[in-house]
Amino acid sequence: MYVLFCSYGNDSIALIQWAHERGLKDVYCLYSDTGWSADWWPSRVADGEAMAQSYGFTTARTQSEGMLILVKRKCGWPGAGGQGQFCTAELKVIPALNWLDINDPDNEASAMTGVRRSESKHRSDAPEHVPASERHGGRELWQPLVRHTDEMRNALIRRAGFEVLPHRSLECYPCINANIDDIRLLSEDRIQLIDVTEKALGFTKKRKPRVMFRSARRKGAVGIRAVVQWAAAPRSRDQMEMFPTECDSGYCGG
Ligand code: SF4
Repeated sequence: MYVLFCSYGNDSIALIQWAHERGLKDVYCLYSDTGWSADWWPSRVADGEAMAQSYGFTTARTQSEGMLILVKRKCGWPGAGGQGQFCTAELKVIPALNWLDINDPDNEASAMTGVRRSESKHRSDAPEHVPASERHGGRELWQPLVRHTDEMRNALIRRAGFEVLPHRSLECYPCINANIDDIRLLSEDRIQLIDVTEKALGFTKKRKPRVMFRSARRKGAVGIRAVVQWAAAPRSRDQMEMFPTECDSGYCGG
């Protein structure tokens, strides 16, 4: 049994296509619903699932309480105020481990992701094989696209009948690790939702506002409206690349 962890971004579509071309059998494509995707992302997920099913793969989703309820329960955003990146654990890893415990009780499955080394410096030494991955309940982790370039990945996506998206997965919109490009993609509706949530969360005991993004990494921008303004400022591509951030859980992105 192979369990492909799919956000249905570019790398996930490429991974599904790769698994099909490789002739893998007994394949499950598992999507983690974080309740925080872009409005149109569920239709992208449905298209990706339809493609996977046409290859004879089984698709499944895990549910979670959703980002906004989680943030309110924790009285703050993940990664802010020293709270750590709890969104991945709460919205994805724990629901996925529960799913795996039910569907693979003997720990025989191989977990698979579409992580690639060329995505970023951060992932430049991502392993292809991990014999026992803690985040996958001790199961084997196989990341067969680690050596795939953008061109190789894009060719897989096109053979799957999909266009290459010009941005990262929008399974979380935005991710707490959003870079400048991701912030620039935000709709007014989503900015407003974050703004209202930030205001409702108020301040810490030390009178620090409970905002989604750390101001220290964004020229002192406090609150989503200021962060959006900061991101909108013209920059060279080199300057843009000074702000790449991402999660290394293997559950996010792609
Ligand atoms: S994609 Fe980003 S916001 Fe969503 S769970 Fe992962 S780290 Fe958290």
